[in-house]
Amino acid sequence: MLIIRKQQIYILLGIIVMLLFVAGSRIGTSSVVASPNGSNLINLKDVPVLNYHKVDMLNHALSVSPQEFEEQMEYLYKNDYKTITPDQLMAYLKYGKELPDKPILITFDDGYLDNYTNAYPIMKKYGFTGTIFIVTNQVGHDPGFMTWDQIREMQQTGIVFGSHTVNHKSLTSLTKEQIMDELIQSRDEIARQLGKKPKYFAYPTGTYNSEIEDMVRSAGYKAAFTIHYGEVGGGSNLYALERIPIFKGQRTFRSFFIRLNGAPIFEELGIVKN
Ligand SMILES: [Zn+2]
Repeated sequence: MLIIRKQQIYILLGIIVMLLFVAGSRIGTSSVVASPNGSNLINLKDVPVLNYHKVDMLNHALSVSPQEFEEQMEYLYKNDYKTITPDQLMAYLKYGKELPDKPILITFDDGYLDNYTNAYPIMKKYGFTGTIFIVTNQVGHDPGFMTWDQIREMQQTGIVFGSHTVNHKSLTSLTKEQIMDELIQSRDEIARQLGKKPKYFAYPTGTYNSEIEDMVRSAGYKAAFTIHYGEVGGGSNLYALERIPIFKGQRTFRSFFIRLNGAPIFEELGIVKN
């Protein structure tokens, strides 16, 4: 009898150990865990990053009109979206640092003059901030682009400036040496003009590969934005961050806004035109 009791106790102990193990592994999977790339966290809510180019009346493929832009900003404002900086996004992705309830990062590529003349006053009106990726060879040289004075003025009110290279060439078409030149010279020129190194980068024409990601990292940038359609979340690669393109002819917007709000707000933003 004594032997049987001992066996029963061992079986009971075995069951308890198994239960503890199962419970432990459940707790493990429901807590925040480093994602496979080790640089950020999983289980984070997705954050939309909008990508604009031009805000003008040119009816260009990359344009939204100032009126459309104003309607879109008004929509975001009325729906309690809070604009965030890339630093806030990084702190969130890397350390899980809290963001406002409805965060949104607004970005512009290329540094067109209309960002200053048309978009900036509207953003100020709604208390919004944004991030602009500039092509350093265009600044102050091409009249269609902002000047350093305009950029400095915007920087003083909280607009963030990142690099979009020196010449806006597709990086996959360049040699390694040329790519490093584009990354480093644009970084240094922005640092010289604005007093601090840019931390963020956007791939011109959206082209990149894993080798280029490594070069962007080694040039000191903390993250890089693509034109891959999607929202940024715990599974995002910091050197290939998703964005939502906002310009004409992007039929994919509809599904984004349906996903974002459970309602077809793309029409409200005036984006779905055809
Ligand atoms: Zn561009």
